[in-house]
Amino acid sequence: MSVRKAVMALKALEGAEVIEDAPLSQCTTYRIGGPADILLTVHTYAALVGSLRALAQEEVPWVVLGKGSNILAADTGYRGCVVRLGREFSKISVDGDVITAGSAVMLTKLVNETLSRELSGLECCAGIPGTVGGAISMDAGSRHQWIGRVVRDVVAYRPGSGMVRYLGSDIEWGYRWCSIPRNEIILEATLQLTPSTKQAVADEMNRRMARRRATQPIGKPCCGSVFKNPGDRSVGALLDSCGLKGLRVGGALVSQKHANFVVNDNRATAIDVVQVMNHMHDAVQERYGIDLVPEVKFLGFEG
Ligand SMILES: Cc1cc2nc3c(=O)[nH]c(=O)nc-3n(C[C@H](O)[C@H](O)[C@H](O)COP(=O)(O)OP(=O)(O)OC[C@H]3O[C@@H](n4cnc5c(N)ncnc54)[C@H](O)[C@@H]3O)c2cc1C
Repeated sequence: MSVRKAVMALKALEGAEVIEDAPLSQCTTYRIGGPADILLTVHTYAALVGSLRALAQEEVPWVVLGKGSNILAADTGYRGCVVRLGREFSKISVDGDVITAGSAVMLTKLVNETLSRELSGLECCAGIPGTVGGAISMDAGSRHQWIGRVVRDVVAYRPGSGMVRYLGSDIEWGYRWCSIPRNEIILEATLQLTPSTKQAVADEMNRRMARRRATQPIGKPCCGSVFKNPGDRSVGALLDSCGLKGLRVGGALVSQKHANFVVNDNRATAIDVVQVMNHMHDAVQERYGIDLVPEVKFLGFEG
């Protein structure tokens, strides 16, 4: 792999912004992570196609990120290229009760759009950070409702092939997972919403936001839930019952407000977070025999 040659090729492309040795701590809500060899923002479809071709030619691995709100990046960073989508992918268009949003649109902006248009269906995403692309990839939502339920179709880019369109009903939607292949980049999503009233949509969003404020450490750098709920059980309750709130390794702390939130309390390293997660995992395994599965995605830990 030749990062240097890839950087030269990427810099020659119009609509591609390239930063070398970019700290991932600035690309994730955890504010943790060493440098990525390349941080690439593509503002046009042509730049995206050209960039992925150049990266493939130089055998530089890549990963697409949105806001990095579900990512724990390694202290040593990522040997490859972090791809982010820019301007051309930041648009919203509305046609009656159908909204199309580019992948780089902030989810909160889309949620607010549904509120101002008096459309119901995305209340479950109120207060969830990140982008539309990240939300589709993760099937973001709450325990009983998630974005996939209102997705009419998704347009993605398949490197080497071109654009592909998926009907929402042809996509498998799982718990913080969807079946769109990991080597494809989601470009936009079209949502089919339901006409409602501003009051009804606002009430539901406010209810969810109030619950969030009451139960989550708002304002602390974190990635949301670190583990998935096992089946019908609440992982927060399981962890709490093991007395894990307040557990600390270095700067990583299990929140006093929510036992499934590990916050970056004071310049935590990724290793601090991993060690805390290992304690949490082992405590639940020992007490309940349950093998917790991380919800957070690890970046740069391979090898
Ligand atoms: C305080 C807090 C609260 C949270 N609460 C919730 C919650 O209630 N419910 C919930 O579901 N999540 C929650 N999260 C987790 C997170 O916000 C969601 O998973 C969010 O949807 C991730 O979006 P992102 O843009 O930040 O994606 P990233 O974290 O950047 O990426 C997440 C995954 O999506 C992939 N991805 C991103 N963009 C694309 C794209 N364009 N094409 C293909 N793949 C892509 C990445 O490769 C990665 O695998 C919370 C996080 C925080 C910090």
